[in-house]
Amino acid sequence: MQLDWTDITDRGRRGVGISEAEALAIGNMCDEAELTELFTTAEAVRFHHHGTQVNTCGISNAKSGRCPEKCNFCSQSAHFSTAAPAYTVKSAETIIDEAKAAFEGGVREFSIVMAGKAITREPELQVLEDAFKGIRAQTGMQTCASLGLMKRPELERLKAAGMQSMHHNLETARSFHPNIVESHTYDEEVETIRTAKELGMYVCSGGIFGMGESWAHRVEMALELRELDVDSVPINFLNPRPGTPLGHLRELSPLDCLKIIALYRLVLPTKDLIVCGGREMNLGDRQVDIFKAGANGLMLGNYLTTAGQAMAQDHGLMAAEGMQIRPPPHKPLPRSVPPEIRTEGTDVGGLAGKPVDPRTSPALAK
Ligand code: SF4
Repeated sequence: MQLDWTDITDRGRRGVGISEAEALAIGNMCDEAELTELFTTAEAVRFHHHGTQVNTCGISNAKSGRCPEKCNFCSQSAHFSTAAPAYTVKSAETIIDEAKAAFEGGVREFSIVMAGKAITREPELQVLEDAFKGIRAQTGMQTCASLGLMKRPELERLKAAGMQSMHHNLETARSFHPNIVESHTYDEEVETIRTAKELGMYVCSGGIFGMGESWAHRVEMALELRELDVDSVPINFLNPRPGTPLGHLRELSPLDCLKIIALYRLVLPTKDLIVCGGREMNLGDRQVDIFKAGANGLMLGNYLTTAGQAMAQDHGLMAAEGMQIRPPPHKPLPRSVPPEIRTEGTDVGGLAGKPVDPRTSPALAK
């Protein structure tokens, strides 16, 4: 399939994502000239909607290990024998101190992550409430949490305490999910996301790449995320953990990683795309190209069970690309529109008058 890059750029600027056929064509792409067009287009669309601003996020692994769930990539599952740390919930004070240190390091959205099917016990909910209040008061950062398959009553309560964003990954495509997650269903993941959307939260949901999925699976998840209208998509690349069923996989090249970022930018033109875990080992020196590939976000600091690179290195990476840290708050973003319901001339994102088309800007063109 021959792709019309000028038309894709034009649609992306209007918030209209590419079609399934176009997305699948990107998966098959290996011609160098075509790849250059892909990255130039993805960068132009990113620049139109997000300029040079980076959404920086960081996390606290606030309750780790001994998880009853069975997600085959995860070293915190009690089903596998791994070296992941196991501890009960941290105090609110500890979490707030971690948040303050992250803020000093440049993080502007901070997520409290707890292992388990869902967080419903009173002591843990109280820690979360106190931590959200403290983080908001002492740093002003956007507050987020990743707490499993949460239901409306607990989410309402946490939102009232100051939780602004909810993170919950789909992990992978619906048709590949049973290969990866054996203890709960895709529909349960979707229900959690829909509940948070209904509550008006900023919802962050994406997945992990390099788990044996095909390009068709990657396209499938991107389209599902567009349908769910999530605000932010974390892109993780598998860092295979010894002792897990996926511990042997080494699937991705740096070019694959950059193609995945570009694919997601063009399916979801208006949304935040955050490059997270596994970027160091899968992208190596090519990390510097993630913004050119269409990303506008970066997780800083350590991941849940693996170390990230030094924050100073990430600041250097952003500076090298002329990017600046975006301040909070992060409101729900304009919907990325599927091509079949696009309206010619509509400024979907309310972004008329945004900067020049970077396809013609020597500062950003490759
Ligand atoms: S991904 Fe989350 S739910 Fe799944 S095993 Fe790991 S901690 Fe548990």
